[in-house]
Amino acid sequence: MKDILIVGHGLAGAILSHSLLQAGQRVVVLEGKMPFSASSVAAGIINPLIGPKLNLPPQMGDCLKEAVHFHQSFAEEYAQNHLEKISLRRIFLSGQQREIWKKRQTSSDSTAYTDSIESEAKSSLLGLYSPHGSGVTHAHRLNVQGFLKQSKDILKDKDLWMDAKFDPKDWAPSQKVVFCEGYGVLENPWFQKLPFEPAQGEVLRVEGPCQVPASNGTWYLPEKENTAYAGSTWNHHQLECGPTERGKRTILENLSYLNIDQYRIVGHASGIRSSTKDRFPILGRHPKISQYHLFNGFGSRGSTTIPFFARQMVDLLTKNIPPSRKACLSRFQT
Ligand SMILES: Cc1cc2nc3c(=O)[nH]c(=O)nc-3n(C[C@H](O)[C@H](O)[C@H](O)COP(=O)(O)OP(=O)(O)OC[C@H]3O[C@@H](n4cnc5c(N)ncnc54)[C@H](O)[C@@H]3O)c2cc1C
Repeated sequence: MKDILIVGHGLAGAILSHSLLQAGQRVVVLEGKMPFSASSVAAGIINPLIGPKLNLPPQMGDCLKEAVHFHQSFAEEYAQNHLEKISLRRIFLSGQQREIWKKRQTSSDSTAYTDSIESEAKSSLLGLYSPHGSGVTHAHRLNVQGFLKQSKDILKDKDLWMDAKFDPKDWAPSQKVVFCEGYGVLENPWFQKLPFEPAQGEVLRVEGPCQVPASNGTWYLPEKENTAYAGSTWNHHQLECGPTERGKRTILENLSYLNIDQYRIVGHASGIRSSTKDRFPILGRHPKISQYHLFNGFGSRGSTTIPFFARQMVDLLTKNIPPSRKACLSRFQT
């Protein structure tokens, strides 16, 4: 059996590699340490109700089931669990948003994710300013850095890891390759002209008193020892500009539910999401070079969606079953 070459070890490459190993395949992972990878700054929040209208994203239930299954299997095999349940306070920006939440509480597809509404007084005991109250969301959080570090250690131990950028001259022409390059796809000569819409995003690391995860669209995620991550921003134009004063100001202004004077900034970073115009990932086989494959376009929700689509990618690579139409690369072929 020939090794499948995985190019890139962000969340996509890492989860696909372990999914393939679990399916009895052999892999080699190549990581080129590109700057601004999305996974290097991702908070790993799996939030089932998104946007101002608290919408349930497509296939949320299936994606969450697959994410839980993947990380449980990984934890059973390697004795470390990186996925945890969290109660995320959704800070209502208006009475109207609170009414939408009430509808979500009774609607069959979202009731499992919604818990009680907390009053302004209760929120304030937690260090949150929320005049319209807040809704307790059943969410998850993936420790992205912990998972990626352990994944790299495992692959290195098994001698399946190489620190290098992909160069076709180094590999046999018949080798199956899966490009999981995040926004690095923009430099990939074999997968040009696909409708990617990359977006730079920034995160802050802060020290301060609030100990509960919360979001009003801008999230706050406590870590150990009184530190927390907070973010993020969207910028489609200056992708490689690094963290900016403007990004920092935007995050601080949007954290209007915290008493920001009590917080100290201890870190600031940026990454680039490889989003797509239709908001679906892009996976599939190159139409002419049949050994080249793409697994990309996970935008701002990779922790939620990657395990689900990794299963489809495994099916394509091992059983020749095409991915679902909405995510398949072939949707762009005329
Ligand atoms: C600020 C910010 C916050 C986020 N927060 C969340 C969140 O809370 N929850 C969530 O689900 N998602 C979040 N995301 C989105 C999440 O980070 C992405 O969906 C996910 O990390 C994408 O993973 P990826 O592997 O496709 O890409 P990347 O993480 O960009 O990884 C690509 C990898 O490929 C390598 N590479 C590229 N080209 C080559 C090459 N030619 N040869 C070898 N190696 C190569 C790079 O070095 C990199 O390691 C956030 C993103 C940002 C920017």
